[in-house]
Amino acid sequence: MRKKIIAGNWKMNMTITEAKALCDTLIPIANTNEVDVVFCVPSIDISTVVEKVKGTSISVGAENLYFEDKGAYTGEISADMLVDAGVKYVIMGHSERRGYFHETDTDINKKAKKALEKGLTPIICCGESLEQREMGIYFEWIAMQIKAAFQGISAEDAAKCVIAYEPIWAIGTGKTATAEQAEEVCGYIRKVMEEIYNKETAEKIRIQYGGSMNSGNCKELLSKPNIDGGLIGGASLKEEFAKIVHYNA
Ligand code: PGA
Repeated sequence: MRKKIIAGNWKMNMTITEAKALCDTLIPIANTNEVDVVFCVPSIDISTVVEKVKGTSISVGAENLYFEDKGAYTGEISADMLVDAGVKYVIMGHSERRGYFHETDTDINKKAKKALEKGLTPIICCGESLEQREMGIYFEWIAMQIKAAFQGISAEDAAKCVIAYEPIWAIGTGKTATAEQAEEVCGYIRKVMEEIYNKETAEKIRIQYGGSMNSGNCKELLSKPNIDGGLIGGASLKEEFAKIVHYNA
């Protein structure tokens, strides 16, 4: 049985002051052992949020890292820095980073390897554009993204990762994939993992759905056999997030 993982992706929202207030609102109502709860926050908020979640079951994630260990990479943050700050998870390959910041499949693969080497859990994002969905090439596209991301990663390490299926057309648009559409692709991703590795590894890896998940649609999505959690943007910035955490209550 895979434990569900409900992760908020705060994106470029929340000053330190706002992060403190959001933690004070959310932590008492979102703290549970029923599912794994993660707040993925802007790097400037990490120390504050790590301090706030101390003594709870909530973990902190970062939204990015750089794959080199240290040195002359102005503006970047290393895996060691994240680990030392108390971070447990790190998002990579989000469509916003692929699109606006030109993160490539090769970068994502290097980031995943570096995160795993340092004991961080990668949340590896994949997903197709509306055009790719309409052209009917989304399976091939996602298989390509997954194969590239996991290139050279052992089965043992792959099983520790989280994959987030986020159709680009559903992110921040209010247009959620139907539970059937999300399940179809999450099930397909598990098949791709079985092809690359084996059944055991494919059964262990957790696959989230992301894209306009909210308190109204989470239960149906999270009831699907291959959807092991959610990566939540907009709804992670408000009390609604706790309703998603307790989707089964
Ligand atoms: P959204 O974002 O929930 O606001 O659609 C999801 C994401 O991009 O991770």
